[in-house]
Amino acid sequence: MIGGGAGGLITSSKLSAELSEEIKQEKVSITLFERAETQEFQPGYLEVAFRGTEPQKLRRPTEKLVSPGVKVVHAKCASLDLDNHQIVTEKNQEKYDFDYVVVSTGCSPDYSQTPGLREENMDFYTDADVSSRIYKTLQGIKSGRVVVGIAGLPYKCPPSPNEAAFMVDEYLRRHGIRKNVDITFVTPYTRIYTAEPINQVIAPLYSERDIESRTVFNTDSVDPVKKEISSLEGDTVKYDYLFLTPPHKPASFLKGTNYSDEDGWVKVDKLDMHITDHDFAFAIGDTNNIPTSKAGVEAHLEGIVVANNIAMNITGRGTKHLFTGRTQCSMETGFHDATFVVGTYDRPVEKIKPSKINYAEKKVMEHIYWGSLHGHYEWLFKYHFKQDYFSESPAKD
Ligand SMILES: Cc1cc2nc3c(=O)[nH]c(=O)nc-3n(C[C@H](O)[C@H](O)[C@H](O)COP(=O)(O)OP(=O)(O)OC[C@H]3O[C@@H](n4cnc5c(N)ncnc54)[C@H](O)[C@@H]3O)c2cc1C
Repeated sequence: MIGGGAGGLITSSKLSAELSEEIKQEKVSITLFERAETQEFQPGYLEVAFRGTEPQKLRRPTEKLVSPGVKVVHAKCASLDLDNHQIVTEKNQEKYDFDYVVVSTGCSPDYSQTPGLREENMDFYTDADVSSRIYKTLQGIKSGRVVVGIAGLPYKCPPSPNEAAFMVDEYLRRHGIRKNVDITFVTPYTRIYTAEPINQVIAPLYSERDIESRTVFNTDSVDPVKKEISSLEGDTVKYDYLFLTPPHKPASFLKGTNYSDEDGWVKVDKLDMHITDHDFAFAIGDTNNIPTSKAGVEAHLEGIVVANNIAMNITGRGTKHLFTGRTQCSMETGFHDATFVVGTYDRPVEKIKPSKINYAEKKVMEHIYWGSLHGHYEWLFKYHFKQDYFSESPAKD
């Protein structure tokens, strides 16, 4: 495994459970390469940014999240050579061979594409500490213009920029200063939310809450002197406070390989996540190029499918599973309401009304997240998703 975040941890946990006998007999070993000493619950960045949650509440030591039977190598992967089945780490250029490999190195903000953005923007995507700068700023706002939205594609968790708009609005209303502050949401899409059924749910809420929207606004640059964002379409938006979602990039070692596209996203089969032309290598979660959202729930479900299939190949037991593209991202709409973005490759996103029950479901995930990475809640995932996230393939491989 390369990457010990949402996808890598569940994949290694499931593999260690499925292959426990083989590990005991020393026929199989599982190694997880992870550069970070701690992991963060990324959906919590919104709570840090807009509700003042302490950053350390989102953190856990990586070691504590790894299941028995999984060896951790704390190192940054510098290269992955699929032709020679070899991983090289940055420090000391150590080399590791493998029979199977799963890449789950996620993605991160890329400020290099948008002049002026890094200097002016505060994001809730980089990490929990960076997110906390937004809350400090919010506390000082008395009046002015807040601009939130999407500064470029792709990015992870599609609903989060919209959640940010609702959460800024909630904060300002609760503090009695909403009337002094304009909120504008900018997006490159043609609507406030790209999927029409969800757009139908949230567009009326934008009007109700007086959040202005600027669609088909592809952010080109930010002018720190004029305090103005310009779009490729030739429009401008003035701001005093900028909380934009930057475009994202994959881990740098993936760019320029023969198994990634020109931006470094790993090319995989969307059903079993094997890397094109390499049936022993897989990429799951945010780093692959499958046509669905970059979200933790997808990384989790893809990881379970891939672990099942690797274990099946090794043991000859079970059946091959194919991912359906199932997504389920919560979208908070403020004041303890939330909707969900739910769909699969074949089933368009549904229209789900915001409710307190949906919000409660989102909150449950905060509590079970760390345990879910160990596979503790697979019974709940199975109950919730039924078999909607995989189908069984008739062929064993
Ligand atoms: C504000 C926000 C809100 C979100 N809300 C939701 C939500 O409500 N629902 C949802 O499903 N998802 C949500 N997400 C998205 C979710 O957190 C990610 O999609 C998920 O973490 C992706 O899992 P991953 O395993 O692909 O990547 P990650 O969890 O990011 O893990 C990648 C890991 O790889 C490691 N790594 C990277 N490069 C290297 C390297 N070269 N060598 C070694 N290790 C490396 C990193 O240190 C990291 O630990 C949200 C994200 C944000 C930022």
